[in-house]
Amino acid sequence: MKNLKCMCEECHYNENHECCAENVEVTSNGDNMVNTAAGTCCNTFKPRDYNYKG
Ligand code: SF4
Repeated sequence: MKNLKCMCEECHYNENHECCAENVEVTSNGDNMVNTAAGTCCNTFKPRDYNYKG
């Protein structure tokens, strides 16, 4: 995605701190209390193969 800076280098879509996914979906981070940035979560995150433990 153009101009989407992201520091999650562990994500498959991260290229030099930019997101290369076509679209991203951001959701609340589990507790439905979105009062801070920490309460949000990128639901499009996909682990890089070398990190995948699933
Ligand atoms: S999909 Fe989400 S976590 Fe992955 S690079 Fe894009 S914004 Fe970052």
